[in-house]
Amino acid sequence: MQLSETVRLYLTKEQYMLVSEMMTTYIATVNRLVADAVDGRSIAKFTSKDVDAYLPSALRNQCVRDANSVFKKYQKACREADRRNARRSNLGKNVQQAAVTILKRPCCYINNQGFRVRGTDIEFPVMMDGRTKRIAVRTRMTERQKALFFGAKLGTMRIVRKNGTIMAQIVYEKPEQEASDGEGCFMGIDLGIKCPAVSRCSDGSVKFYGNGRRNKAMRRHFAAKRKALQKAKHQEALARINNKEQRIMKDIDHKVSREIIKTAEKHHVKVIKMERLSNIRTTTRTSRKNNPSLHTWSFYRLAQYIEYKARLAGIEVLYVNPAYTSQTCPNCGKRHHADDRNFVCECGFRTHRDIVGAWNICSSTEYVGGSDARHAA
Ligand SMILES: [Zn+2]
Repeated sequence: MQLSETVRLYLTKEQYMLVSEMMTTYIATVNRLVADAVDGRSIAKFTSKDVDAYLPSALRNQCVRDANSVFKKYQKACREADRRNARRSNLGKNVQQAAVTILKRPCCYINNQGFRVRGTDIEFPVMMDGRTKRIAVRTRMTERQKALFFGAKLGTMRIVRKNGTIMAQIVYEKPEQEASDGEGCFMGIDLGIKCPAVSRCSDGSVKFYGNGRRNKAMRRHFAAKRKALQKAKHQEALARINNKEQRIMKDIDHKVSREIIKTAEKHHVKVIKMERLSNIRTTTRTSRKNNPSLHTWSFYRLAQYIEYKARLAGIEVLYVNPAYTSQTCPNCGKRHHADDRNFVCECGFRTHRDIVGAWNICSSTEYVGGSDARHAA
């Protein structure tokens, strides 16, 4: 994200004269280049050599850039005016032409290669006795600004005059908040049958949710009942127990999702990541999590519950590509299957096999747009 900071420049009398003159020349040069472009001369490929102005070459370059952007805006305004005028002339109204922007306020721009922040001074080039000379100008920066300019990638500096004082507006790149930096962390959630859900946060914490074995026993119990009722052609009773099973499953998913959000809040999670799984039967995970008797268990529903409760809690939900999340070593990225309860990699990394998925989901940045699961519901 690009932000800007303004600092006041404390110039000596001589520096004030030089900078003031430079700003006036700068604006005049941009205006002249724009006028040339409007007259039909192409300035698009101009370099500092094509610009005849009493300015350091870094600023002549910047003049070309500014002039081109003013000219592009003018061209766009012309196209819009043409469209408008076509309508107006049809209605018998007067047509109005687009106006060329003429810069009036003295200022100049210097790109990040042209200036430098050194301590509390800013160094930049000016013209002196016919040649370019770098001057160091005193400023009064706050400690915050000093730290900011020291660490950040700087953009363009704009020098302007405001009520007689000369200010520098410096653009800098503010890095986007990523990973666990105290302000919040990521949580990866892996959904499965054996462990209904496993979470791993970027702070290293891991948690298991639900009871896969009990779910399985419950499903088996209902499956047996269903079979008996089907044989007896007991339609009403069949519908009743199907509803009951659905209710219980939903209830379990609600409990699990609630617990996940509680954990997320405790660990100041700001983003929850899940795999984009539409349906157990249609994913690459089938082989790992396959169990025909349980194929109707809906990862989709649980994911929806988690997403819904996360949004209520102000936590963002992102979906990542599910490919190989359970087989990739979180440490070195090598792929292999876990043979037993442990995932052991030749790089020396080892962990419980059920954590690997959540770990990789947590660190994955292979985002896939939205929850495709929506279509499969
Ligand atoms: Zn490894």
